[in-house]
Amino acid sequence: MKAAVYHRPGKISIDNVEDPKIEDVQDAIVRVTATAICGSDLHIYNGFTPQLKPLVMGHEFMGIVEDVGSGVTKLKRGDRVIVPFPIACGGCFFCNHNLPGACEHSNPGKYGPEGGLLKEKGGGMFGYTDLYGGYDGGQAEYVRVPYANFGPRLAPSGFSDDEVLFLTDIFPTGFSAVEWGGVKGGETVAVFGCGPVGLMAQKVAWARGAKRVIGVDLENYRLQMAREACGSETINLHDVDPVEAIRDMTEGRGADVCIDAVGQEAERSIWQRIANIVHMEVGSLNAFRMCLSAVRRGGVVSVVGVYAVPYDNFPLGQIFDKGITLRFGQAPVHACIDDLLQWVENKRIRLDDIITHKLTLDEAPHAYDIFNRKQDGCVKVVMYP
Ligand code: NAD
Ligand code: ZN
Ligand code: ZN
Repeated sequence: MKAAVYHRPGKISIDNVEDPKIEDVQDAIVRVTATAICGSDLHIYNGFTPQLKPLVMGHEFMGIVEDVGSGVTKLKRGDRVIVPFPIACGGCFFCNHNLPGACEHSNPGKYGPEGGLLKEKGGGMFGYTDLYGGYDGGQAEYVRVPYANFGPRLAPSGFSDDEVLFLTDIFPTGFSAVEWGGVKGGETVAVFGCGPVGLMAQKVAWARGAKRVIGVDLENYRLQMAREACGSETINLHDVDPVEAIRDMTEGRGADVCIDAVGQEAERSIWQRIANIVHMEVGSLNAFRMCLSAVRRGGVVSVVGVYAVPYDNFPLGQIFDKGITLRFGQAPVHACIDDLLQWVENKRIRLDDIITHKLTLDEAPHAYDIFNRKQDGCVKVVMYP
C-alpha cells in the first residue's frame, strides 16, 4: 500500500510499504478514507521529537473497517469509524481513570543506549515515533487499529468525513483546553495560537459561554480565520505586545483563562533554542510565558501545545505570586468523544470550516511543506487516500 513515511527531519515521502495485518485478536484493519496533518506531526517533521527509523505518519484518521481479529465484538467489516489518536486498552489503571493517553498497555516505555529513561511506560499513539510505541499511523491507505473494542467510534450517517474527522484529535483537544480552564460562562478567554487546535479551543470557549474570546497569533491569515470561523477578537503579536493588549482589554487584570495552543514550535528559531539551553531570557516568543503574564491573578493557564523537552528558568515566583492554576497534557479523547459527537450531531459546533486544503495522499510531501511554512493560506490539510 501507499503511505506517507517519515525518514528524517524535513523528509516525508510516499512509499510503498507492506499492508498492515491483524497481529492481535483485538485488532482491526481500517481502510482510511480521510486523514489530516496535525501540528503535532510538525514536531517530528522539524526534528523536535526524534524518530530514527522510517515510520508511517498520521494520528487523525477515519475510514471503513476491512477486517477484525477474533476478539473484536463491537465492530464488523464495513463499519465506518472515527479513531481516537491515543492507543488505549480500555482496561488498565489509567484507562479506568479516564486517561487513555497514559494507557499502560500501549507502550512499554523507552530506554536510551545508556539505559537512561527516555520516556516512561505508557501512552501509545498512532504514527508518533518509537517513544509513543512505534505504531504505524493513518496517513496511509490502511492502518492497523489495536484495541478495536475500545477506541473506534461509529461515524454518524448523514455526516461527511470532513464534518466528523476532527473528533479524532483537535476538537477533543480544544475542548480539553477549555475544560481544564474551568470555563463555565462569562469568562474572558485568551487563546495563544490560531492554528487548528487554537481555533477549536476558541469555538469551544464560545460554546461554553465565554463572554470574550481573544485569539493571538503572528499569521494574519490565521487571525482572519479566527475572526471569521470563530467570531473572536484577534491580536497579532508582531503588531502589539499581546500581554499589554490583553490587560488593556480587561481593565488591567488579565484574562480569566489563557490557553497555550502553540507549544514548542514557537521556539523554532535557533536563538530561542539556545536561549533555553543556556538559561537566557530573550524577548521570548514562548507562548506559555506569555500566558502566565496575560492571565489574571487567580486565573488558569491551560496548556495543550506540546512541550517535549525540559525547560529551565521556569517562573515559579510569578506562578506563586499570581496564584495561577496550571493544567497540561494530552487530550483524553476516549473520555470526551461520545459527548462531543453529540455536539456535532446537534449542530452545536461546526468543525470542517477550518479545512483549507483537500489533497490526495500522494500530495503529502507538499502538504507538510505548506502546513509547516504557513504558505498558501494553509490552516488544515485533509488528504483522501
Ligand atoms: P499549528 O502549528 O498549525 O499552530 C500553531 C500556531 O501558533 C500557528 O498558527 C503559529 O503561527 C502560532 N504561533 C507561533 N508562535 C506563537 C506565539 N508565541 N504566540 C501565539 N501564536 C503563535 O499547530 P496546531 O495543529 O494548531 O497544534 C498546536 C499545538 O497543539 C501543537 O503544539 C500540537 O502539537 C499541539 N497538540 C496537542 C494535542 C494534545 O493532546 N495536547 C493534540 C493536538 C495538537
Ligand atoms: Zn494531532
Ligand atoms: Zn489502558
